[in-house]
Amino acid sequence: MTFFGRLKKIFSPARTAREDDSGRVEPGEKVRGRPRVHVLATGGTIAGRLVSTGPRYRAGVLGVEALLDAVPALRGLADLSGEQVANIGSQDMDEFVWLKLARRVNELLAHPDVDGVVITHGTDTMEETACFLDLTVHSPKPVVLVGAVRPAGALGTDGPVNLLDAVTVAANPGSVGRGVLVVMHGSLFEARDVTKVSSSALPTFAAPNSGPLGQLIDGRTYYGHRTGLSPERLVFDVSRLDKLPPVGIVYGYAGASALPVKALLDAGCRGIVSAGVGSGNLHRDVLATLADASGRGVAVVRASRVPSGLTLRNVEVDDNRFGFVAAGALNPQKARVLLQLALTRTRKPEDIQKMFDDY
Ligand code: ASP
Repeated sequence: MTFFGRLKKIFSPARTAREDDSGRVEPGEKVRGRPRVHVLATGGTIAGRLVSTGPRYRAGVLGVEALLDAVPALRGLADLSGEQVANIGSQDMDEFVWLKLARRVNELLAHPDVDGVVITHGTDTMEETACFLDLTVHSPKPVVLVGAVRPAGALGTDGPVNLLDAVTVAANPGSVGRGVLVVMHGSLFEARDVTKVSSSALPTFAAPNSGPLGQLIDGRTYYGHRTGLSPERLVFDVSRLDKLPPVGIVYGYAGASALPVKALLDAGCRGIVSAGVGSGNLHRDVLATLADASGRGVAVVRASRVPSGLTLRNVEVDDNRFGFVAAGALNPQKARVLLQLALTRTRKPEDIQKMFDDY
């Protein structure tokens, strides 16, 4: 073995994983006293690489092994194993990868030797995947999503330190019962509240209504004020689903047209989320079309394009009369996630409203 080969072996994260026949890596037996964290890789800029022609970089290139090997300090935190679930820019994330992830995370966390799961993910739609998993993972063990704004090889790349922080949080027993978390740039966020607030700058995520759940300072996790999840929390069983009901989003603006709503209805959407203006208000033409759709059994959820604040019932729109649901704290993209899941159980606006109120 070459000198560099020996070095690489010495500095590789400790793994007690074994590979099954399909090539999937299964977490092996836990070494006593050490936390065991399994990493599921889906791509994104954290797995991206600079390219010399065309766009500056390509997301979803590096594999899970390369991500883990790039951060030797990970082995000091936990016994790690990893597998590739997808390798895509998260602009291409979809319900099929979500269902696969939910199934795999539930399976892994049911394993007594697994203490937590880290999911590497692009930042573009990370908040939606986090929200989906928050609503479909049954275990209280930590599930942490992490990404990067700068690809591997870029000056000041943030992927390695973000990954180190994510494993720190996933390995920490204090993270149990807090729901799915997003860890980026030294902050810890809850899935329900986190949103991407900058398309270019670091830090890129915030929780406009509630602030971060905690912070990571010098490798230590400081949790904020919130307590654990209620045992009666809203959680969906997606283990037997191979797709989700189609739900679209329509954006609100001055002089908005009802055409996009009609196109979504013609395409067979069973639910529509309005990313309305202000407190989820709608242009009168859009309102009339959605009220009509609601009367014909299409679920309509009012959210807002405004980045913070709550969309509450019956403020300027008569939700009771039109059979609309108000999204509360959820932004339009997360309201869509919850509506898709809600529609697997019911079409009744009052039942759907209760789910939005309960989350
Ligand atoms: N387009 C990339 C993605 O979401 C951006 C990122 O990861 O920051 O996969």
